[in-house]
Amino acid sequence: MTLLPLLTTERAKCGHYASKSYIDEHGGLCRKCHSNFAAILQLEKTRGEDALVEYWYSMILANLPEDKEQLSCLISHLVGFYEQKLIESPSRQKYIAKMLYMLRSIEKPFDPEQLR
Ligand SMILES: [Zn+2]
Repeated sequence: MTLLPLLTTERAKCGHYASKSYIDEHGGLCRKCHSNFAAILQLEKTRGEDALVEYWYSMILANLPEDKEQLSCLISHLVGFYEQKLIESPSRQKYIAKMLYMLRSIEKPFDPEQLR
């Protein structure tokens, strides 16, 4: 029965599809978005906070790759994640606030049109 997997598949909050149990266990993300999220956390863990700040800064400068939709899902997931961290780890407040600022500026890029 090839149709069977479809029956248990659900739309994740990123808009992609995955099995319901996977989505439930991974903060509402599909497999691909969750692996992106995990890669970001891994980068933070292995290379440190500065490396991550540099990473996002270069993403801002790069003006974002093709797959905007997928990135915006990841960004909004990260914003939620760091907002939670901000409450949980006050000692890292400065770093987390910086991250949130960068993530939000990726979410809502500067629009010169607004100055007119
Ligand atoms: Zn996804």
